[in-house]
Amino acid sequence: PIKFHLQLVVTQFAEGDTLLFVRDVTNVVRTEQMRRDFVGNVSHELRTPLTVISGYLGTFIADPGNIPQQYVRAMTQMAGQADRMENLLKDLLWLSRIESTESQAKGETVDVATLLEELKEEVSNTHPDNPLQLDIQSQGKVSGDYRELYSAVSNLVFNAFKYSDEGVPVTARWRQDERNLILDIVDQGIGIDPRHFARLTERFYRVDDSRSSETGGTGLGLAIVKHVAAAHGAQLDIDSKLGSGSTFSLVFPSQD
Ligand code: ADP
Repeated sequence: PIKFHLQLVVTQFAEGDTLLFVRDVTNVVRTEQMRRDFVGNVSHELRTPLTVISGYLGTFIADPGNIPQQYVRAMTQMAGQADRMENLLKDLLWLSRIESTESQAKGETVDVATLLEELKEEVSNTHPDNPLQLDIQSQGKVSGDYRELYSAVSNLVFNAFKYSDEGVPVTARWRQDERNLILDIVDQGIGIDPRHFARLTERFYRVDDSRSSETGGTGLGLAIVKHVAAAHGAQLDIDSKLGSGSTFSLVFPSQD
């Protein structure tokens, strides 16, 4: 069967007239699908050769035998870059996967407090002296996909550490008001000039390229966060002040 994608457009005029029309967006949807598939396939295909390259480099570096010192140094740099490339492909694959699964259907009940505990454990491996501070004020749960939500929150938390000085605390706060369940990731890091807010969640958009490559980011983190948020009916709010820190909030509509 041929599948069409139609869009219903409703325009209301001041005089009270309403114009309804149906637009055929089949080509737009198909092109977008092809783009996603292409990015997914390329990332997948590039991963295998890269694994071989990293594997050999790792072996040589671990046991250089009589390889001259300057070659070992060069190989260490190559291994570092191969690592970055692997992270980039991992993020690209994950993004194309979550983009294509239109996550609405994921009906797990996600206990955000548990998710944060697990993330705190993960953070303790990379920041043993600066644990993630948890401030759990709500027992509220969210319906959705645990893995997707975990990846979104972990991107926000690792960004918070990445863009803060060593040892400066990062807090994850889970709270609720009358209408929403809200997860705030609060840092006291370098902050962001508000003129960047609108573009931050674009793929590969970076405020400061040198800082980001130094910290090993892929530029895809916030694109992933935005996607996961949208798929869970949540909104991503950004509040930040240059030089004093940022708060990224995921705002979920209350489930009960
Ligand atoms: P990256 O992998 O470069 O961190 P992201 O998509 O996660 O990419 O973030 C996009 C950009 O937003 C980053 O390059 C950085 O400039 C900025 N950014 C994200 N989170 C923070 C934060 N907590 N504090 C300051 N800047 C941030």
